[in-house]
Amino acid sequence: MSNKVKKHTANEIKQALTYIEIFKPEDEIDCKGCGYDTCKEFAQAMLNGETRPSQCVVLSKKIIDKLKRKEKLLRENIFFHQEIIDSIPVPIVYEEPHGTILGCNKAFEELLGSSKEKIKFTKIDHYTSNEKFIEVLKSMNKSLLKNPGKQIVEIDLNTSGNEARTIEFHRSTFSSRVGEINGFVSAFFDIDDRENQRKELEKAKELSELSSKLLKLMPSGFVIVDKDLKVIDSNKSFVEMIGDDAKLINEINPGLKGAALSKLLSFSELFSQLLESGEKTFSKDVIIGNKLFKVSLFLIQKNTIVGAIIKDLTDPEVNTTEIVERAEMVIKENLDTVQQIAYLLGENASKTENVLSSIINIYKSKNE
Ligand code: SF4
Repeated sequence: MSNKVKKHTANEIKQALTYIEIFKPEDEIDCKGCGYDTCKEFAQAMLNGETRPSQCVVLSKKIIDKLKRKEKLLRENIFFHQEIIDSIPVPIVYEEPHGTILGCNKAFEELLGSSKEKIKFTKIDHYTSNEKFIEVLKSMNKSLLKNPGKQIVEIDLNTSGNEARTIEFHRSTFSSRVGEINGFVSAFFDIDDRENQRKELEKAKELSELSSKLLKLMPSGFVIVDKDLKVIDSNKSFVEMIGDDAKLINEINPGLKGAALSKLLSFSELFSQLLESGEKTFSKDVIIGNKLFKVSLFLIQKNTIVGAIIKDLTDPEVNTTEIVERAEMVIKENLDTVQQIAYLLGENASKTENVLSSIINIYKSKNE
């Protein structure tokens, strides 16, 4: 095309063609899109400084296609990253170094009761009147910009429902590839539930210790065993009921923990029976030596743990209470029977009265 084309060596032209991504002879399609008849002529013109690689329409198309693919990949990556942070149940927000919000996750939207679109380009301190939190935020920013890393503070915050919650506020810096601080990322951990759970656990532990102390002091024998009938715990009265061997074991191993119940009691099969039957309680009188005991078994955990309270019925104090309880039970049962008889008698009397009335009425009408 040009009259001023200088002659270049084949090697120089080959090298120039690589600038427009033509590496093999078959890549030279000579489409004339650049205004030159052949790719080689275009390469010569480039060497002469008459044109630029961007004038090759095929190369430009290739570059545009590459850019489109990269943009698609980038969009997919952004979407994927957003999906990941949205799946985190903890509110997360990230801001540029001056505090302008760049993005957040779903949990943060819920915390503020607003949408990502509205939250973006605003600032965290717009959403709270908590001066202490605003102060903490400022001081954290200052200190993190000086010493990049992570900081954690505990603070009371109001949520979108205006409910005050104790929050563990985590804030850290994030950097560019060259190490410059690009902004802050923050996470808000609601520790109220954690704190409540801790308090409940503490209370349950205290209650369990108290129950254990009470059971230890009980005048009746008390024992808990696992599904293999190994003692989990027992009290002093239980140990004393069994005899001297148990007292010796108890001195070395308080509560007879781990001891086999079958070696301690002649009626250990009652415990297995309750575990297997699935019933919740069971009582039976048993004789040990010359004494009579009432064994009340109860299921603590289905198929795994069973407990028993053993009362010495020959003990005058226990005996009196037990006799009173049993007498009350017999009276109640008898009372029920008496009430039933009275009801039946009453019903019969009423029936008889009705029949008699009918007979009288018939008799009267006949006479009239
Ligand atoms: S536009 Fe490119 S491919 Fe087409 S002839 Fe020119 S240099 Fe060759």
